[in-house]
Amino acid sequence: MKSSLSYDQLKTAANDYGTPLYVYHAEKIVSQYQNLLSNFSSTHTRFFYACKSLTNIHILDVVKRAGCNVDSSSINEAKLALHVGFAPQNILYTSNSVSFEEICEAVSLGIHVNIDSLSNLEKFGAKYGNSYPVGLRVRPNIMAGGNLKISTGHDKSKFGIPVTQLEELKAIQEKYNINIANLHIHTGSEIKDVAVFIQSAEVFDILLAHFPTVNVLDFGGGFKVPYQPGEKGTDIALLGAEVDKAMHRLSEKYGRPLTAWFEPGKYMVSECGYFIAKVNVLKQSGNIQFAGIDTGLNHLIRPMFYDAYHHIDNISNPTAQQQAYAVVGNICETDTFAWDRAIPTIQEGDFLVFFNAGAYGYEMASNYNSRYKPAQVLFENGVSRLISRRDTFEDLLSLQLPVNK
Ligand SMILES: *Cc1c(COP(=O)(O)O)cnc(C)c1O
Repeated sequence: MKSSLSYDQLKTAANDYGTPLYVYHAEKIVSQYQNLLSNFSSTHTRFFYACKSLTNIHILDVVKRAGCNVDSSSINEAKLALHVGFAPQNILYTSNSVSFEEICEAVSLGIHVNIDSLSNLEKFGAKYGNSYPVGLRVRPNIMAGGNLKISTGHDKSKFGIPVTQLEELKAIQEKYNINIANLHIHTGSEIKDVAVFIQSAEVFDILLAHFPTVNVLDFGGGFKVPYQPGEKGTDIALLGAEVDKAMHRLSEKYGRPLTAWFEPGKYMVSECGYFIAKVNVLKQSGNIQFAGIDTGLNHLIRPMFYDAYHHIDNISNPTAQQQAYAVVGNICETDTFAWDRAIPTIQEGDFLVFFNAGAYGYEMASNYNSRYKPAQVLFENGVSRLISRRDTFEDLLSLQLPVNK
C-alpha cells in the first residue's frame, strides 16, 4: 500500500514524538479536496468537510486554506470552525436529536442549519417564521453504506424526517410559512455505489415539487475510500458526472438554479492519517502469534466498533518475510486490531503503522483504563509539527475535584 508520507518520515516522527502517535499529511487533504473540485461542476457544487471525522483546529485550518467549507455535527464543532476563522455562511450544522436551544444558538451564529425532526421544525416555525432559511434532513428509506452500524437512511434509522411524513411536514411548513432552502439526505458511510446518490436525487425530485423555495440539494457524505491494497473507493469522476446530469435535469424541470452540496468526512481525511504503535510484547500461543502493542481500543476503536479494516505494516522492518499475527491492544478488553494478518516479521520494539487512520481515529479516542490519549502530529511542506500533545497524569486529574484527606 503506497504511503504518501515515507516510512522514514513516520519512523522519525515516532522516535521524536513517542508512541502511540497519530500523524497526518496536509497535502493529502488538499489533494482529496482538489480531486472533488475537478470532478464536479464548479459553479453548482459546494463541499462541506464533515469535521467530526477529524476536528483538530490545525486540520480545520488546512481545510479552510484549501477553500473548503465545514459541516458540523454539534454546536461545538461549529464554534471550533468559527474559532479557526470560517465565515458563518461557510459552516453547516446538521443536527440530530438536539435540543431546540442548540438550533437557536446555531441561528444566532448565522450558520446554515439542517433540522431532522418535525418536533424541532414546529418549534423553529413558531419562533422564526420565514425569517431564517433552513434545511430539512429527510430520511429516504434507502439502505446503503458499509454495514448497518454506519447506515443512516434506511426505514428503521433514527436520522431525518421520514419521507412518508410528507403531509405532516408540509402542514408545518405552511402553518408558519417556513423558508425551506435546503433538502438534505445522508444515507450512510462507505457508499461505493454511485447509484445510491442518484436515488437521493430521485427522492429530491419528488420533494422539490412541494417546496418551491428550495435551491440547495445536499447529498450528504459517505464516499468510500480504499482500505485494502488495490481496493477501489467511490468513483468520484463517475459520481461527479452523474450528479451534474441529475442536477441539470432537476434545474430544468423546476425552472430554477439548484446547487448540490456534499459533506465528505472520510474522503477528505481517512487516507491522510497514520497511526503508529510500538510492539511491547510477542506471545506465542498454540499456532497464534500475538503482537501486543502500546495502544488499544481506547485510541483506535474502529476495528472493534464496526469491524473496520486497517492495513498494518511493520515500518521498522518492512522488507522482512511476512508472518501471520494477531495484533492486540493493551486494554482490559478483547481489543483485537487484526486476526491472522500477514505482517513483515516483528521484533519487540518495532513500530507498526495503521493506514486510513485520519478519520474517526483520534476523534473516537478516550482515556479508558486511565491511559493518555495519543499526541497528534501534522506534516506540511515536509516538516512535522505537534498539533496536540499527549495527555499527562495531571490531565487525568484535571476535571476531578480533589479528595479530602
Ligand atoms: C458523518 C456525516 C458525514 C460524513 O460521513 P463520511 O462517511 O465520513 O463521509 C456527512 N454528513 C453527515 C450528516 C454526517 O453525519
